[in-house]
Amino acid sequence: MKIRLADLRDGPLDLQGELAPAAYDLVITGHEQWSPLTYRFHVELLGEHELLARGSIHTAVTVPCARCLEPITLPVRVPDFTCAMPVTTEESIDLTLTMREDILLNLPMAPSHADIGGHCPPQVEQRCQADAEQFTAQRRNETWGALDKFNERE
Ligand SMILES: [Zn+2]
Repeated sequence: MKIRLADLRDGPLDLQGELAPAAYDLVITGHEQWSPLTYRFHVELLGEHELLARGSIHTAVTVPCARCLEPITLPVRVPDFTCAMPVTTEESIDLTLTMREDILLNLPMAPSHADIGGHCPPQVEQRCQADAEQFTAQRRNETWGALDKFNERE
């Protein structure tokens, strides 16, 4: 998203709208589908040499759940977008990279049904629980197994 400096010469601007996600290079694994980015910005010049943009960005992404691989749609919000850029040109300032970075930083590392207040399908929940119990039992054996043998020798 580019801000034309000429538009700011007469004072701050309040901008809002929707942007196609394609320009923001939000591809992580290639399995995600992004909704359009909705933004609301207050943009102003601070003196002659700095541009300040503040506002919010909302979007959503459909990704496979990290636990069960079922697709989930996760809202992604940047509620306090703030970007101060040096004015190094007469024409326009590009906010694309900063917006991209903030969107990706607000995305959980391993999005799952838990992130949207949901549950994975029951069969997956059962399998994960069984795995966890088996893991605990195995760890207990590894930790105390040697001592058990010690007891048996007495
Ligand atoms: Zn899931």
